[in-house]
Amino acid sequence: MRALSALPLDDDIVDRIMTFSPTFATLQALMLVSKAFYSVYQTHPKSITRAVAYNIVGPALPQALRVIRYQYAMPDGNARDKEDPDKLATECPEEHSPSVITADEKQKLQENSKVVCALEDIYSLTQKDRTSRRSVLTSEESWRFRRAVYRIMFYTRLFSGDRYDLDEIADLGEDGVKHIRLQRMAVLKEYPTDELRQIYAVVQFMRDILAEVADSGDQIDVLLSTGPNGVRYAWEERSTESVEEDLGFSLYEYDDGENELYTGYFSLPLNKIWTARGAKPPKDDDEKEPPTKWILDAIIGGNDTCSQCATPGGLKLLTEANWHRMEVQPAAFLKNRLKDNTTVTTPFQAALASLRQQHYDPDKADDCRDDEEWLGPWIGGVFDVPRISGGQWDGWKRDGSYCQPCLRKFLDEHVWRWLLWERVKGGWAPPEDCWYGYNCKTMVHKRPHAEGKNHLCVPTKGDP
Ligand SMILES: [Zn+2]
Ligand SMILES: [Zn+2]
Repeated sequence: MRALSALPLDDDIVDRIMTFSPTFATLQALMLVSKAFYSVYQTHPKSITRAVAYNIVGPALPQALRVIRYQYAMPDGNARDKEDPDKLATECPEEHSPSVITADEKQKLQENSKVVCALEDIYSLTQKDRTSRRSVLTSEESWRFRRAVYRIMFYTRLFSGDRYDLDEIADLGEDGVKHIRLQRMAVLKEYPTDELRQIYAVVQFMRDILAEVADSGDQIDVLLSTGPNGVRYAWEERSTESVEEDLGFSLYEYDDGENELYTGYFSLPLNKIWTARGAKPPKDDDEKEPPTKWILDAIIGGNDTCSQCATPGGLKLLTEANWHRMEVQPAAFLKNRLKDNTTVTTPFQAALASLRQQHYDPDKADDCRDDEEWLGPWIGGVFDVPRISGGQWDGWKRDGSYCQPCLRKFLDEHVWRWLLWERVKGGWAPPEDCWYGYNCKTMVHKRPHAEGKNHLCVPTKGDP
């Protein structure tokens, strides 16, 4: 059919082209460029919009739409904590038929999808394949993961941590908390058992991230109530700071003994559901059945060993994709007494500062940002320093997988070489080598000696 577009293309093809738009901005641009596209859009606005939403969100679109469409508060702004649990659980169901998606909804879908994609990348890196920063989940695995994340997003918005301040939590009393727990169970009860297990698996993954930054196990449940976005911040910033801001009260003030609102935030309702359904409760410490098995069909390199010492490490082995997650103090790798020589530590810190600068992304300034991003490229740079072949370090490659002790051993021996290489590249002409090299005691307390000789070198004599 060729009528509306007045282009040498069928309207059907124009329609198809529009449905391939990766974002709403692209779709908008197509319509602005050509009136013909706009005319064709007008004939099927719902299906085209839904197709583009699907491109952004994927098959979890019904869950993503529920997150943004649900009325989380009463019209007067009050929480819905006294409402009938079943009413709360069945309202605004996940909808599978096309419907008009408003401009505001498009914006929210894109924002939420950013959070979900970021979490999927983290999930993939930590649970599926340690060698890739971007998700390598299969489309089936990705769908399970995203569907669960959107459902967790929904749950944590409905029972969100910022809903009450500490006084209000205290005012809820025992009966208030009991009722909210019934509401939570009603919401989760809507899902079939296998999809609940997927939710459980993703919750465990989130708990593991939060456990890294929380001071105690009790805090994890409170932190969980900030949802996928809070978990993403906790991961990127490696602290609870932003998450606590989200909560509106400090974890320090929240006393789990008196306030039980968040205790067993997911585990209480889930356990009751497993029991009621006669389903085997999943265990998080079961080697044979780890929670990831509900999401992933296969793990890549799960049984791999260290490239150098054959220590088993699997997903925990260090690779270029996860170096930036290491907890390291770069200066601690400066060999022996070099750490105490300011003529060495000053240019070292300056070189690191310039790397930090290079990897600082100003576009992300207001968004969630990992300030340790530069660590990966730095360690990569240490591997790239030319080495004499035939030595002990032959075969230590940038793309290897290492256990912590091996990688640390490598850095211990090579970080000073990296500094030397960087400085020479920058035009520095090193003075004559000191006989005692990085072991020299004099360089620590005699500045003229420290400045007059090069100490970024292997000692050729024993202790002075
Ligand atoms: Zn090793
Ligand atoms: Zn010396």
